Amino acid sequence: MTTDTSAATTSERERLHNLFPDLDFDPQALRDKYRHERDKRLRTDGEDQYIEMAEEFAHYAEEDPYVEPGFARDPINEEIDVAIVGGGFSGMLAAARLKERGLTNIRIIEAGGDFGGTWYWNRYPGAQCDIDSYCYLPLLEELKVMPKEKYSFSPEIFEHSQRIGHEFSLYDITYFQTRVKELRWLEDDKRWRISTNRDDNIRARFVIQAAGVASRPKLPGIQGIKGFKGHSFHTCRWDYDYTGGDHSGGLTKLADKRVAIIGTGATAIQAVPFLGEYAKQLYVFQRTPSSVGLRGNKPTDPDWAKSLEPGWQRRRRENFADIVMGIPHEEDLVADGWTDITRLVGTSIARQAEATGQTADLAEMMLRAEIADFQKMNELRKRVDDTVDDSDTAEALKPWYRMFCKRPTFNDEYLETFNRPNVDLIDVSAAKGVDRITEKGVVANGTEYEVDCIIYATGFEITTSPKRRVDFDILGRGGTSLFEHWANGNRTLHGLYSHGFPNWFTIGINQNGLSPNMTAMFDDQAAHISYIIDEVGKRGHTVAEVKKDAEDDWVAEIKRLQVFGTSFQEACTPGYYNNEGRPNSGGGALGLEIYTPGINAFNALLKTWRDQGDLEGFELS
Ligand code: NDP
Repeated sequence: MTTDTSAATTSERERLHNLFPDLDFDPQALRDKYRHERDKRLRTDGEDQYIEMAEEFAHYAEEDPYVEPGFARDPINEEIDVAIVGGGFSGMLAAARLKERGLTNIRIIEAGGDFGGTWYWNRYPGAQCDIDSYCYLPLLEELKVMPKEKYSFSPEIFEHSQRIGHEFSLYDITYFQTRVKELRWLEDDKRWRISTNRDDNIRARFVIQAAGVASRPKLPGIQGIKGFKGHSFHTCRWDYDYTGGDHSGGLTKLADKRVAIIGTGATAIQAVPFLGEYAKQLYVFQRTPSSVGLRGNKPTDPDWAKSLEPGWQRRRRENFADIVMGIPHEEDLVADGWTDITRLVGTSIARQAEATGQTADLAEMMLRAEIADFQKMNELRKRVDDTVDDSDTAEALKPWYRMFCKRPTFNDEYLETFNRPNVDLIDVSAAKGVDRITEKGVVANGTEYEVDCIIYATGFEITTSPKRRVDFDILGRGGTSLFEHWANGNRTLHGLYSHGFPNWFTIGINQNGLSPNMTAMFDDQAAHISYIIDEVGKRGHTVAEVKKDAEDDWVAEIKRLQVFGTSFQEACTPGYYNNEGRPNSGGGALGLEIYTPGINAFNALLKTWRDQGDLEGFELS
């Protein structure tokens, strides 16, 4: 891969100076540095560098440490109206929204032993939601609940999902500890047959696939990974029997253990302070540093909570979604690390307008956004210098990319952890990752680090190909697999339904409006899907299928809107956001599979579609 270090032209420099006379850094030098750091990490194997948790690696994902072993039940044979695959927030919200419409002959099928999805499985120490809890936790107004803090820890979120389960009587309609093995459209019955690992034969008129976006963990394909003789687990199946303690700490069984953690994404940032506190020795293997902003958590102010007017949660969610998208508002209700850059851009545009009386054009807006990004990232890099004592370690912990190239993180203990004498950061960026794993430990930069335990904080199948992300097949009309239909990229209308797959709906992050506040998106999608299912019945039909041309048009529309997305993503450091540096290949980068005008615009579009009242794009029979 060549490195583009072309210097800025004189006229560009003049323009920069005119717009930003007080800049205390050289934007071109930063662009060059970002490009260099990106190129250093690019690998030829892209998403193939990861191994699926299947076959010999299946135990990393399938074992459920949170239930008593030996659960058994008789197979179920039944006909229902709606089957919902997944009992995380998206599946629960789908069930709740259907029930609100009076549709009750529904079932949820869930692999875990309780509700919660992500928050059922991810119980690692320190697990916390990075999104403002007043935006993130669904149905707060309906259930008259107020989170304890601005950022909730996982037990509170898990408890909230259980609350939804009870309030909407979802426990009565859910099959837990049941994994779907196949969905098959039965042409004669006009129903889906849902096969499971419990030999069930459930036939449903409609299926809502709400299997989650980060539900399949992945492992790095590091040479020798199978041969390690010590203990190992993935962060989403934290082994408290081995470490001792619980979510809040107390990992006392690590007192005599040498521990390696591979990966420094949003999960590791939260877990590392606990490992550093309790392990005899901790090695943190880092390929790309995360940006680590201020957490600044605080308890909910009861007076503020009392002052909220009805409809506050939607208003807050919409305000947050717009601001994160770069659409300025007079008031930034969430006002945190996610919305900082937009605030910086807004202020800089306002200052310029005041000084010159002129509004910015698109090119200027983009430049201002880039400069605001540099300023924000400089601030985060300074935070590293201010916190970490050892200068080499501090240097290695600095992120060199635009903030939203990678999932930003927020933590007030992570950086401090590297000042502990028992914690070492091992920078593996030059070798594009860990070299290999031996029987005794981890080899990086030619040195073997002997350890008792390896913890994989290596993430999930989020943007890999659909077949890797979903561990069961979906066979539509004529037995065609959804994965074949999507072999050259996702094909949907609104990201929610696909031609050839009648009465099948999916809740997710592709080809629809995206927000980092995923539960809000899922709720909006759930409400929309429940409207369609309800309408099909009310109109006396049994089958609703998206027409091919409606699907073609939507796919083309999504592509048309990607004008800026591709170049932004290509310049980013590799990761799952940009399909490991190749945004246009494989499963599809996050930014290229979305409705770029944003979640609020997407919701407005769906509302217009519903108000039209003719289920445009569907064929009903
Ligand atoms: P990520 O995919 O974000 O991180 C995986 C890490 O593993 C990266 O640091 C990656 O490095 C590293 N890695 C992979 N292969 C190797 C290798 N061969 N050698 C060394 N390092 C390697 O996973 P996470 O579990 O951290 O986060 C996944 C997502 O879950 C987040 O992005 C977020 O969306 C969600 N999450 C949300 C939270 C919340 O607050 N709501 C909290 C935690 C997670 P590299 O970056 O170089 O690829």
